[in-house]
Amino acid sequence: MNLKTKLFLLKYQLAKNGAISQFDEALKIETLSEKELKDISFKKFKTIFDYAYTHIPYYTKKYKAAGIQPNDILTEKDIQKIPILTRKDLVDHYNEFYSTEIDKEKLRISTTGGSTGTPVKVGFTKNLIREIPKWRILNWWGLSPNVNMATFYRNIHASRLQMMALNFIYYPQRVIRFDATQINEKRILDFINKFNRIKPDLIHGYVGALDTVANYLLEHNIHLEHQPKVIWLTAAPITKGVEAKIAKAFQAPVCDQYGCSEMYFIAAECPQKEGLHIFADSVYVEILGEDNKPLPTGEYGKVTFTNLNEFYFPLIRYQNGDESRMLTHKCSCGMNLPLMDKVKGRISEKLIMPDGTILSGEYLTCLFDNHTDEVKQFQIIQRKDSSIDINILFFDHCMNKKEVIDDTFNKLKERIHNDKLLRINEVTSIENKRGKLKFIISER
Ligand SMILES: [Zn+2]
Repeated sequence: MNLKTKLFLLKYQLAKNGAISQFDEALKIETLSEKELKDISFKKFKTIFDYAYTHIPYYTKKYKAAGIQPNDILTEKDIQKIPILTRKDLVDHYNEFYSTEIDKEKLRISTTGGSTGTPVKVGFTKNLIREIPKWRILNWWGLSPNVNMATFYRNIHASRLQMMALNFIYYPQRVIRFDATQINEKRILDFINKFNRIKPDLIHGYVGALDTVANYLLEHNIHLEHQPKVIWLTAAPITKGVEAKIAKAFQAPVCDQYGCSEMYFIAAECPQKEGLHIFADSVYVEILGEDNKPLPTGEYGKVTFTNLNEFYFPLIRYQNGDESRMLTHKCSCGMNLPLMDKVKGRISEKLIMPDGTILSGEYLTCLFDNHTDEVKQFQIIQRKDSSIDINILFFDHCMNKKEVIDDTFNKLKERIHNDKLLRINEVTSIENKRGKLKFIISER
């Protein structure tokens, strides 16, 4: 750890006590064996389960009704006896998830976007150090917590005083903040200037916004004067084509991180990119089938997770609607943190045709992987009458638009056996909601 990093962490510690020791501890955990990691994970699961049983009204009621007691959960296998928590449970019983021991003021309430229908509210204990997993990922990529970075997020509305406090905590780190909701040419040019001056080693943020800036760089043949070490993407499933394009535009590898509004850090890629390492000491991940029974490693199923650090608003065996699978191989980086695959499109992003044919999110998002040089952006919308609009925004230089359109039309026609339900449209812009790119929209 160099002096600058130490200074940064010491200052950080002024705001949040325990930051340095917790970071050290987390790094140590990454060197443990698979068995040791499993033991830690189960022990923490058991602790939070026991706590929730006594202190969280929702779980007390639910577990008692299911006839389960803390004594019934003695091995990892016993976890299967515990009822699942769905988004609907969380929405319907939101007020019963607070610990009886906590003053509500000590929780920060976060509301998830309503992309899957009803927004969900979740509480986070304010003094938990949420940056630890972030620092861990940076460490995997050879970067320190105070790395200079460019971020692409929704603009945070902070007061002057709050900004000063933030700057104090983060000093000497330099951050270029790009508001992902307000992208225009002037702002992109301003970003490029700042980028060349500050030379950040990390680019961090929403895929949608980064995709737009990447398009601009490629279209205008702009080469940045500095190569960052990594581009860390969050908050959206990404297609191979988009990942390759962003990597090309910024001349750096892309790190895919998986999380959701209910839990920001679940897993992330190391530079080997052989799967996403699960933070097994802070989240317990299960992959379950339709019947909520565990699936063999390698099979796709419902992501089900337990936040092992959040006691005052615990999520135990929570299903957020994502699908993924565990991977069987070990990562060549040597870490024993288990590996999961990239998350498939949200379950709700499956499109179902009138004859029952399912177009999976994964299939649809790969539709243009052979046309990454022609297709700048696309969006697939299923209308109320089940028909599908595929909106394509082409690169200006694209000369074979018709070929791409015909190719896509034929590919899909084969799948859905009914070309009357299919429209492929060339568009001049694609709606980019608050910087987040949504590939698939179902209006049904
Ligand atoms: Zn690895």
